[in-house]
Amino acid sequence: MIPRAGRSALEEALEDRIRFDVPLAKHTSLRIGGPADALATPADRAELARLLALCASHRIPHWVLGAGFNTLVLDGGAEGVAIQLSRLRRLEERPGGAVRAEAGVSHARLTRFCVERGLAGLEFGAGIPGTVGGWTAMNAGIGQREVKDTVLEIEVMSPTGAWVRHLSRDTLRFHYRALRGLAPGSVIVSTLFGVTPSTPEAVRAVIDPQLARRAATQPLDVPSCGSVFKNPPDDFAGRLIEAAGLKGLRVGGAEISTVHANFIVNRGGARAADVVALIERARAAVREATGRTLELEVRIVGRNR
Ligand SMILES: Cc1cc2nc3c(=O)[nH]c(=O)nc-3n(C[C@H](O)[C@H](O)[C@H](O)COP(=O)(O)OP(=O)(O)OC[C@H]3O[C@@H](n4cnc5c(N)ncnc54)[C@H](O)[C@@H]3O)c2cc1C
Repeated sequence: MIPRAGRSALEEALEDRIRFDVPLAKHTSLRIGGPADALATPADRAELARLLALCASHRIPHWVLGAGFNTLVLDGGAEGVAIQLSRLRRLEERPGGAVRAEAGVSHARLTRFCVERGLAGLEFGAGIPGTVGGWTAMNAGIGQREVKDTVLEIEVMSPTGAWVRHLSRDTLRFHYRALRGLAPGSVIVSTLFGVTPSTPEAVRAVIDPQLARRAATQPLDVPSCGSVFKNPPDDFAGRLIEAAGLKGLRVGGAEISTVHANFIVNRGGARAADVVALIERARAAVREATGRTLELEVRIVGRNR
């Protein structure tokens, strides 16, 4: 619950760019999630700074929701203000072999931009859905290639909106599917990616087979959040879950995908509690069979009902 004074201040500052009690199912790729106390889509950086300052002064928690491709929102909804940066979508080529993309740029648009201009370097990410903000915060990747290999710098706004800093790659602590070391509540505003000159044909020739491979190996026709667990060193979470015999296991409307066992899909009407139950079942079965504890890749937010 957002206290009345805080709610009035937020409404006055953001007008129709903030809504209250917003179900998040439409904002996550799993199509699951209880309501956010509020969902804000600030018009620009100045309004984002104002929003963060108001949250700080009224002691309202805030969190960033990208496009929700790696987020499970629990059935009881999420406290505070969910901030979506979908209006921060500037995308430009920079001198010296670089592309700057604001956090709200979809990764599909970034890929198209690079193809059209014949810029190489980001092909590995083709088909990884989400926004530049989510991509950077997750250090998204495939195989041995990760966002960290391409980032030159990120621009970060402080948790209270007081400042924006440019952090160069050597100061960033990227880990497997995580960017650590930013103060909690910090907001990634843009990312500067390094690219090299190529041709549209050459870039497309790398991307097309990757997209075909994804379509053949991932359940792309049903709602999911991508890989649920991180791969343990020297193995694959999907292989371990499949070996434990859990492919196709259902709880309520959620199912361990029959196509890729590290995906949980929403077969219709699934609740977050169903997904959490499958996560626990998969973890327990793999632990019992191998002694290994799978670590979550998906980010879980909110409260149980
Ligand atoms: C079919 C499918 C396939 C996928 N394949 C892959 C894959 O091959 N490799 C891979 O790595 N991932 C994969 N994913 C997962 C997902 O695409 C990535 O994690 C992606 O980076 C999520 O982006 P998002 O904008 O949707 O982030 P969200 O899910 O909205 O957010 C993820 C995290 O980032 C934080 N965040 C988002 N934006 C910001 C910001 N501006 N500032 C600070 N924090 C922020 C959020 O708070 C949250 O903690 C897949 C998902 C699906 C559904």
